[in-house]
Amino acid sequence: MSLHYELTGNFQYDIGVLGLKLALDTLKKEGKELNYKYSDFTLTIHEERDEVFKLLLRSLLSLSEEIESKREKEEKDKKKNKEEKDCVKVAKFINNYFLNFYNPSKLNKLESIDHLAKDIYQDFNSKASICQCSFCNATKKAIPINRMYFLFAPSSMNSFYNNKPSIFICEDCLLPVIASPFALANNSTLVYVPNLSLMESWHTALKDEKNVLKKIVTKLINENHYYAQIVEYRIDSKKPSINIFPLGKTAIENMKKRADILENLLQSANTSILKDVIYYIATNQSLFTLILKYVPEIFQKYKNDKGSALYSVNVALLILKLHLLLTQKEVTKMEVSENLLEEAKKYGESIHGYIWRTKKGNTAVNYSISLASALIQSIHLPFTQALENLIRISITTGKAIPFEIRANINKENYREVLAAVALSIMSFPEPKEEKEEEKEEAFEESLDD
Ligand SMILES: [Zn+2]
Repeated sequence: MSLHYELTGNFQYDIGVLGLKLALDTLKKEGKELNYKYSDFTLTIHEERDEVFKLLLRSLLSLSEEIESKREKEEKDKKKNKEEKDCVKVAKFINNYFLNFYNPSKLNKLESIDHLAKDIYQDFNSKASICQCSFCNATKKAIPINRMYFLFAPSSMNSFYNNKPSIFICEDCLLPVIASPFALANNSTLVYVPNLSLMESWHTALKDEKNVLKKIVTKLINENHYYAQIVEYRIDSKKPSINIFPLGKTAIENMKKRADILENLLQSANTSILKDVIYYIATNQSLFTLILKYVPEIFQKYKNDKGSALYSVNVALLILKLHLLLTQKEVTKMEVSENLLEEAKKYGESIHGYIWRTKKGNTAVNYSISLASALIQSIHLPFTQALENLIRISITTGKAIPFEIRANINKENYREVLAAVALSIMSFPEPKEEKEEEKEEAFEESLDD
C-alpha cells in the first residue's frame, strides 16, 4: 500500500504535505529506511499508513522537545517540566495546535505512542463514513473537518447549506494535516507557494530568521519569484488566526522595479510599516493613502518626540517616493517626479527653517503643525484651490515657491507635492545657522527669476 499526496492549493493541507516531507527527511537522516519520493507537486510514500503514522508521532515528540529546549534556553529561570510519558507529551503537543485533538480526560490512561496512534484512528473511525475526501478526491473513510483536525477551521463541524458538512478529510489525508507543525514551528510568518520544493526553500531561508519580513522582501526583489503568499499566523488551539496576503506577478514586479527604495525602507522602516507597505503593494492600493494614514501620528510625535517624528517623516517621504515612481510608467516622467519631490522637500525644509528662526519652542511646534495640516487638508481640494493655499503659505512665510515646483506642479501630482512640503516642515526643530544663510541666498535668487 502506498500513500499519495498532491498539492491542492489549500494552504493548510499543502503546508502539511511539506511538514510530512520534512518529518520523513529527518527520519531518513536519523537512519530510518523509508521509501518515499516527491516532485514539485506530489509526495508518494511506499509504506504502510499505520507505520508512517506512528513514526510521525515519534517525530512530533522530537519536534516538541526541540521547541521546548529552545524555549528553555530563552527563559533560563523557568523550572523544568515534570517528567511526562512520551505519549502524553506528543498528545499535549498536538493539542496545542488542534482543538481537543486528543481528549484531555484520556491523557492519564495513555500508555504508549502505539496506544495513542491506535486511539486516534479508533476515534476517527467512529465518526467516519465512506465519502469523497475533499483533498485527495478518493472515496474512503472520511470525516467533516473541524478544528479538531484542521487548524484554521471553524470549531464546530463545518456546515454550509442545509447544515450539511461539505468538506471532508480522509484517513490518509489526516497525516499531512497532523504533520503541519513541522512546517509551522519556527516563526509566525511563512511564505506559501503551491510548489513543494519552492515552499521548502522558503521554509529553510526563514527558519531561524529574526526579521522574517525583511528577509522575504529581500528574497523577492533579488530572486526570480512570480508568486508568493505571505502568511501570518498565530497558533492557538482555541483561537488560531491567519492573515494571508498574496503577491502576484505585478506586485512582485513593482517591488523589483523600485528595489533601491525598498532596500532603503528595509534599512529604515520598522516591521509594522514595512508590513503596511507590502500589504498595500500586494492589494494594489495607493501608497499615498498609507502616507495620509500616518500623518496624524506624525503630528502627534512632532509635539512630543522630535527624534521619532523625524524618523517617521523620513520613512513617509521614502514611501511617497516609492508611490510616485510606481505610478509613473515613463522614465522621463519618473525623473521629473523625482526632482519635483526633492524640490518639494527642500521647500518644506526652508519653511521649517523660517519658522524656527522666527519662533521658539511650543509656538514653533504648533505653527509648524498648523501649516503642515493646512497643506494636508488642501490635498482633498481641487487643484486651483490647493495651489492658492500653497501660495498663501508662501506669502505668510516669505518663502517663494521654487521655479522647479511652479513649472511642474499639475493636476496629477499636486497632492504628492503638498504632502512632501507638509512632511518636510516637520523635519527637525533646530536648523543650522549657516545653512539658513545659504537658503536665504537661494530665496533671493528664486525671487529674481
Ligand atoms: Zn484524502
